[in-house]
Amino acid sequence: MRRDKLFGIIGYPLSHTQSPAMHNAAFKRLGLDAIYLVFEVAPKGLGDAIAAIRGLGIAGINVTIPHKEAVIKYLDDLSQEAKLIGAVNTIVNKNGKLTGHNTDVFGFIKALKEDLKFDPRGKNIFILGAGGAAKAVAFGLAQKGAKRIVLTDVADEKALELACDVELKTNCACLALPCGSPGIKEMILNSQLLVNATPCGMKDADPAAIDPKLLHKGLAVFDLVYNKNTKLIKAAKRMGLRASGGLDMLLYQGARAFELWTGKKAPVEVMRKALKKE
Ligand code: NAP
Repeated sequence: MRRDKLFGIIGYPLSHTQSPAMHNAAFKRLGLDAIYLVFEVAPKGLGDAIAAIRGLGIAGINVTIPHKEAVIKYLDDLSQEAKLIGAVNTIVNKNGKLTGHNTDVFGFIKALKEDLKFDPRGKNIFILGAGGAAKAVAFGLAQKGAKRIVLTDVADEKALELACDVELKTNCACLALPCGSPGIKEMILNSQLLVNATPCGMKDADPAAIDPKLLHKGLAVFDLVYNKNTKLIKAAKRMGLRASGGLDMLLYQGARAFELWTGKKAPVEVMRKALKKE
């Protein structure tokens, strides 16, 4: 089988990705002679994998856990957004020049608007996690005019680093709280949006990412986890809160990547159907 254009995703481990179904369905609908494959790449193999993109002429690659930040040093250029955030989830290969983009920001903000009808302007927001995805969420919300963002992560220094970065580069007040600190309760009470940007909830055995007792009537909840209806989302819905999982974010970040790679409008409904079927 010959395909004119090769695309794919690198990450480690990569047992749960739904991106191939979404992109291959889109290629088929548009009649493009292209295929999207999965490349499981351990951290020590990242440099070789990026060299292979150039060597094999792979046209575009998605990047996921744990490579979103580490990949930057191997690229030739970054979009303004990827530079600001310091994380890349999409690589475009134009004649051997590799440019890193971040389409998670677009995906998150669009899903937030469509699923929760939430406008971040002037709002207080609480984010669980300070990894690659949390960076996109925090900068996206700050750019959309959020008033204050509070972060916490099991790795306290990561939360502190991200909070400082957001404060330095945007007009949004951003602070980090130590994991499990008593101040978390008050900050969530004073927030209008809670975002789970940790992997907590991906496994059936995982607890709710935050104690459901901290949820309150004035809170909307967005959980980036997309492979499950998490305990956090279930608890929020039981309380009648606006709540959404990460499937639409996955869809819209994928649609944006598709457009960067192909220059064509993404068939979003075809991609949504493929994702739901998965
Ligand atoms: P990551 O880079 O590994 O960051 C996650 C961070 O959360 C890590 O610092 C981790 O610490 C911390 N953490 C884990 N459990 C925690 C808990 N219970 N409380 C506080 N902090 C905790 O992962 P990522 O790339 O940011 O992805 C995070 C989640 O978002 C994943 O579930 C991923 O699938 C999802 N995601 C969804 C989309 C979408 O389109 N819907 C896009 C991107 C990511 P340790 O490393 O020490 O565990």
